[in-house]
Amino acid sequence: MQILHPFVGSVQRYSEEIADPDRYRPDHCPQCEAKHPLTAHGFYRRTLVDTAFDGVIRVRRYLCGCCKRTVSLLPEFTLPYLRFGITMIALFLTARLLVGRTLGVAAVAATLPGMPYQRGQFWVRRFQGQAERLCAALAALIPPSPAPTFVSRALHMLQSFGWIPAHRFLFADVRVHLLGWPAFLAPDGRCAVLRPVVPPA
Ligand SMILES: [Zn+2]
Repeated sequence: MQILHPFVGSVQRYSEEIADPDRYRPDHCPQCEAKHPLTAHGFYRRTLVDTAFDGVIRVRRYLCGCCKRTVSLLPEFTLPYLRFGITMIALFLTARLLVGRTLGVAAVAATLPGMPYQRGQFWVRRFQGQAERLCAALAALIPPSPAPTFVSRALHMLQSFGWIPAHRFLFADVRVHLLGWPAFLAPDGRCAVLRPVVPPA
């Protein structure tokens, strides 16, 4: 399971801070609710492209001694299962869907000139599919924008509240992904546990 690492600062600073396993060690298990600190369990690596970074970051992992499941601390400037940082995706979607720029111009706005247009279309499609759910969830934070469509309403709300603070709430409190969870983790970002079928007596 992934939980958010409440971190504000550069990627370099993030990398330095997570070297210390005690600094952000969860004091309880978010999965089984066991009330004991989790054990440091190494890192996994993931790629990240952000406005000032393009490379591999380490993500700190912990293990629960009770349920034996791992919890990883995803830095809050990233989105699960997406290589690009929130800031870039936000710049792109705002330029494309709110300002009405072409895919190419929106890519330049996101500091991604020359980005394959399919990637931009993929973000747009996923955001369009998620917009209604975002509007409903974000209404807990700010008054809904009067914009005519769910897409423009969600974008206005994200712009006024801030994309990363909104992501912090959506991910940590209501398990909503800004662009929608991949199908195998829907609806709330957790692997569904398949129960064995009990044959009829
Ligand atoms: Zn546990």
